Amino acid sequence: MTATLRTLLLIGVAALTATTLTAAENTLPSLGTAGGGSISSADEYQLGQQITREIERSGAMLDDALVTEYLQAVGQRLAANSDDPEHPFRFFMIRDSSINAFALPGGFIGINAGLMMMTTDEEELAGVMAHEIAHVTQRHVARAIEASKGMSLLGIAALLGAIAVASSGASTDTMQAAIFGSQALIQQQQINFTRANEYEADRVGIQILADAGYDPEGMVSFFEKMQRESRYAESRRYEFLSTHPLSSSRITEARIRSQRIDVAQTPQGRLYPLMMARLRALGADEPRAALAAEEKRKPQDDPSRYARALLLERLDRHDEAIVLLEELVGKDQTLVAYQLALAEAQAAAGRHDEAGATYTRAQRLFPTNVALTMSHAVWMIDRGKPAAAHEEMVDLLTRVPDEARHYLILARAAAAAGDIGASRYYTAERFLLQGDLLSAIDQFRFALAVPGLTDFQKARYQARYDRLLGVLGTLNSDQRRALERGRGG
Ligand SMILES: [Zn+2]
Repeated sequence: MTATLRTLLLIGVAALTATTLTAAENTLPSLGTAGGGSISSADEYQLGQQITREIERSGAMLDDALVTEYLQAVGQRLAANSDDPEHPFRFFMIRDSSINAFALPGGFIGINAGLMMMTTDEEELAGVMAHEIAHVTQRHVARAIEASKGMSLLGIAALLGAIAVASSGASTDTMQAAIFGSQALIQQQQINFTRANEYEADRVGIQILADAGYDPEGMVSFFEKMQRESRYAESRRYEFLSTHPLSSSRITEARIRSQRIDVAQTPQGRLYPLMMARLRALGADEPRAALAAEEKRKPQDDPSRYARALLLERLDRHDEAIVLLEELVGKDQTLVAYQLALAEAQAAAGRHDEAGATYTRAQRLFPTNVALTMSHAVWMIDRGKPAAAHEEMVDLLTRVPDEARHYLILARAAAAAGDIGASRYYTAERFLLQGDLLSAIDQFRFALAVPGLTDFQKARYQARYDRLLGVLGTLNSDQRRALERGRGG
């Protein structure tokens, strides 16, 4: 963790737990007067969004569109069956092998790769996710924040909200809170839920699972497995157990409850085994050894073939990967993961005509898939077609919330097309989404200095630049110093 983040982090830590307060007290910037009271859901959202951005910026988040889309799909299915179906949720994966999952304020939920790797089916994964969703809908997270003494969160959240509104562009739905990443604190700032919270989250989680058509037994069996295996392992590996205290009586109660509940159906997630295979392949430290392990696993199983193809790709054995992937696509045309891997393998092998044909076919089948669009755009930039790549990415942004990685591709496309002004502009937007206001301002200044801008570009960049300078003007000296230290993400 950088020093910058540590300082910013103190703001978030103090807000979320009282434990680190003593260390924080001397260095905290003043953020208005403290006071008790309840936190509004808008404040909660702002704070959760800031922390999530810091996690993203720190590189701890798994940047994989397919896995993220999968988690989001399972999570949405659960959230839609909670007693607060309108509540927005964002699910993401942390690239960490320890067993953990956590809920941040505002419905941002992180799942460690290590936790997913420990599950044996989608029911178990859904069980943990439903439990975290329940902590949010039952306001356990919000109440823990309200109960924390010392620094008032409200002051921070209100400030974040003001900055977010001030720094966002014309549209309010893509708010770009510019400042105060409260740094991930993935470890320190997690809320330690009470025993009463845990029982309630189990009870509510079981109801969510049953209503969503998952057998709640998966949640119980996963908790049991964690409790059993944690006895023989280093306790740090089972972080989940330190924030979500687990006891035998809790497991027993959950078991009885899950056996009594009616489940409409138990659908088997088709994507689960594929995403597990993907994590095995992408997360392997030694691709060669992992490939050998896959060959022993269940070599005729499609997910295992998919894992092998991805590992062969990592070993630059493209032609072998293509053979496996062509078989998989031939067997099942409905999985974007196969087609995307095939197109990327063909491109990596220099077989660009085939790659182009695969992309075209896949985009007809999955016109709105984010992973596919991004991959295709990067391929087109590399093939000397940046204008087409740009057009596809701009179109994508009309359909999905904008993220830093989208702007990275847009900046590359603009640079490849020779439009340096636009490239600076997109880079500025990327910095802003990462919470680095000062770097964003620099990029707008660079963009405005590029010769040959159109009148439209000049007006657009100037308006954004002025707006961000305005935000900067509202900050006090402590906040500016904190920003200065956070620069350069
Ligand atoms: Zn819990």
